[in-house]
Amino acid sequence: PSIPRQQQVPILPPDVTRETFTTAISELQNLLGNGNVEVNDKPLVDGWYMEHPNTHDAFHLVDQEDLVSSAIVYPGSTEEVSIILKWANQHLIPIYPISMGRNLGYGGAAPRLRGSVVVDLGRRMNKVLNIDGDAATCLVEPGVSYFKLYEEVQKTGLPLWIDTPDLSGGSVLGNCIDRGVIMGADCGWGKGYTPYGDHWANHCGMEVVLPNGEVLRTGMGALPGRDDADNPTWQAFQHAYGPSVDGIFSQSNFGIVTKMGMWLMPATEHQSYCISFPKDDDFEQIVEIIRPLALQRILGNIPQLRNVIQEIATTAKPRSHWFKEKGVMPRELIREIAKTLPCGDCAWVFYGTVYGPEETRNRQLEIIKKEFAKIPGSVFKLPQDLPDDHYIHSRVKINSGTPELKELDWLNWLPNAGHTFFAPITPTKGKDANIVYDIVTRLHHKWGFDCFPTWCVAGREMHFIANVIYDRGDPDAKRRVNGMMHEMIQTCAKEGYGEYRTHLLYQDVVAKTYGYGNQVLMRFNEMLKDTIDPNGILAPGRNGIWPKRLRGRGFEL
Ligand code: FAD
Repeated sequence: PSIPRQQQVPILPPDVTRETFTTAISELQNLLGNGNVEVNDKPLVDGWYMEHPNTHDAFHLVDQEDLVSSAIVYPGSTEEVSIILKWANQHLIPIYPISMGRNLGYGGAAPRLRGSVVVDLGRRMNKVLNIDGDAATCLVEPGVSYFKLYEEVQKTGLPLWIDTPDLSGGSVLGNCIDRGVIMGADCGWGKGYTPYGDHWANHCGMEVVLPNGEVLRTGMGALPGRDDADNPTWQAFQHAYGPSVDGIFSQSNFGIVTKMGMWLMPATEHQSYCISFPKDDDFEQIVEIIRPLALQRILGNIPQLRNVIQEIATTAKPRSHWFKEKGVMPRELIREIAKTLPCGDCAWVFYGTVYGPEETRNRQLEIIKKEFAKIPGSVFKLPQDLPDDHYIHSRVKINSGTPELKELDWLNWLPNAGHTFFAPITPTKGKDANIVYDIVTRLHHKWGFDCFPTWCVAGREMHFIANVIYDRGDPDAKRRVNGMMHEMIQTCAKEGYGEYRTHLLYQDVVAKTYGYGNQVLMRFNEMLKDTIDPNGILAPGRNGIWPKRLRGRGFEL
């Protein structure tokens, strides 16, 4: 339940008295400088994407005051991050690291445990530390956004690409650590919006501050270079020696990542295209055609298969422009509107890009066209066939590593819109995909939401991304989102389909669905947590992992 903050008084972390909190905060201010520690005692402002708050979840799904921090601290170096961790251990104050906090749809900048102190790494630790043009690698701090990395790469004049998600204001490191793999994939190549779209697969080496304040480097970084310099292959070889520990620092609460290596892609020629399909029922066949094309790597990146309602939403016109009634927008109306748009009368639109020299691209496109032409009524288009303001031009940019914000357009759908994602994984098989699609559309109807399905399809698995859009000012809409999310999670899990990432509010329930062997995975994670972080100060509850001190005390949702 929501407990409003008293005016001018920040809420407290559990088990911490006001006196301890006040003393601890002034101690931290002395250690880091007054201006680098702020208590969260002002009215909460949701802002917008580029001016997002670091005090709470701007896209609140419960009361705005529910997922809030007690204070925010801005470290300027790895050493200062160590200081913060030691301070947190001393006072038993939970802390929650964010890189930039633009994790909108998954909890924004909010901590999982109310009253935690948010460690906003991005404000002061925001440098591109190195770009190695020969090896096509970079080393970044948490506050480097895709826009910034792009600019820094451009400055070098080198023919290199970055890989950006749909929105480029997020942190390169933060997105990667949350495994926001641009709707991921299952092979080392050919995923995401450029062929380097699986960010986690393309990271190389990290610097991590452990909960006790010690600094660890993963991969080759553990072996100091000559005269204690950084290892020359830290950003070049991922696996190094011994157990590969990088994975335990992603989607977890075992350390704070302060530096990360990423691979950059050598620039290449590219050609984007889209194909529309006339019938809802074409869906299964589309998936069956995509699978071999993706497995053979004839599709150059992770293509998106979008329901035609997205064509309407990316015009940036609000829902009320098309439909004034309450309740779900009728399918027939969606089709009628589509007839008036450049995509024409269709049910699905597939967006892809091929890469490489002209002969390679032409050959790939020839095969792609031939395969999809098996679906009667499918229509192939190039960007020049579509108007300048059509969504495809934003895909051209994103699929070639150029930062963009166009994807924000569908947030105009409702006034005061917030959104969350429901993102289960299915095999790239028409039958599996249809099971999930049926569940999701049925439950959207039941709970009264328009359904925005996008499939990001790789050779072996697909991410189904349903964008759930709601009015943040409407408590009943939020209640229904929560009901629907829980029902979708449970219903899909019963069929064997689980989420790859979720909003803070659903992290406990999603974690429980991964319950094979009497929850042995979670018990293993808890064993690690209690060993690495015995005081339970780092991001308690993140991804369902609670430390012993707080476990089973009613904080789980
Ligand atoms: P942060 O908020 O800084 O980090 C995310 C989480 O990782 C944090 O909450 C924290 O738990 C953890 N973390 C961050 N930094 C550290 C650290 N240094 N050490 C330890 N833990 C840390 N996402 C995609 O992946 N792909 C998309 O295509 C995409 N499209 C979107 C479209 C729209 C319209 C919207 C609104 C969102 C979209 N998102 C997408 C979700 C989100 O915007 C991005 O994933 C974004 O990059 C995450 O925010 P961030 O980079 O600022 O990460």
